[in-house]
Amino acid sequence: AVSLNAVEKSFGSAKVVKSINLSVNQGEFFSLLGPSGCGKTTTLRMIAGLETPTSGDIMIRGVRMNTVPINRRPTNLIFQKHALFPHLNVFENVAFGLKLKSMKRAVIERKVGEMLEVVSLSGFEKRSVNELSGGQQQRVAIARALVNEPAVLLLDEPLGALDLKLQLRLQRELRRIQRSTGITFIYVTHNQSEALTMSDRLAVMNDGRVEQVGTPAEIYLKSATSFVASFIGRTN
Ligand code: ATP
Repeated sequence: AVSLNAVEKSFGSAKVVKSINLSVNQGEFFSLLGPSGCGKTTTLRMIAGLETPTSGDIMIRGVRMNTVPINRRPTNLIFQKHALFPHLNVFENVAFGLKLKSMKRAVIERKVGEMLEVVSLSGFEKRSVNELSGGQQQRVAIARALVNEPAVLLLDEPLGALDLKLQLRLQRELRRIQRSTGITFIYVTHNQSEALTMSDRLAVMNDGRVEQVGTPAEIYLKSATSFVASFIGRTN
C-alpha cells in the first residue's frame, strides 16, 4: 500500500532521514520503532504530506505522492495530542469531515453511529468532548479519522499521553479496530513492547536509518544488528 524508495530528509545541513526503503502491505499494522530523535516522526510526516522528501520517492497505492498536498492523499494522521473541536459534541466532531464532503444527514448519522460503535462510544453522541476522559477523547479522534475511510491511517505515538492502564486497553482496542476495518496502519512509537505486541511487522530505526524490518518474532529472536538487540532488550 505504501512504499518509500531511498527517501531522505534534511533540515538545513542536518540529514535526519538517510535513504529509507520500506514497503508496507495493504491491511497491515506496521510500526516504526526507535529512540527519540531517530527520524520516525519526520518519516511519518513525509507520508502524510506535512514534509517533502529532500530526495527519493513516496508511493501510495502506486501513485507518487512527493508533491501531492495533504488533503489530496488517501491518508489520515492522528497525533499524541488529539485536536478535537472543544465547542462541538462527540457526534459533530466525528461528522466534521463527512459534512465537508456534503453527505446527506442520514448517511452521516449512520456512518458516525457505526464508527462510535467500533471505538466503544455508542451513546456518547451528545456529550461535550471536554467532559470525556483522555482515553475517550483519543477514541473520538480515532473515530473521526476512521470515518473518512482513509486507505492508510498514520498514528504518531497516539497513546503517549495516557496512563499505562489506559495505554494497554487502547492498544488492544486499536488492534481490534485495525483488524475489523482492514485499514493499513502505520504506527510510530518509541515503546518496544507496544510495537512488538501490536504490529504485524515493524521497522526498527536508529539515527535516520532502518536497522531491521521484520515480524515481532523475527525482530526479537533474530535481531539483525547489535543496536536492534540492545534496543529490544536482548543483550545476549
Ligand atoms: P521523538 O520520538 O522524540 O518524536 P523521532 O524519532 O520522531 O523522535 P523526529 O521528530 O523525526 O524524531 O526528529 C528527527 C530529528 O530531526 C531530530 O534531531 C529533530 O530535532 C530534527 N527535526 C525534526 N523536525 C525538524 C525541523 N522542522 N527542523 C529542524 N530539525 C528538525
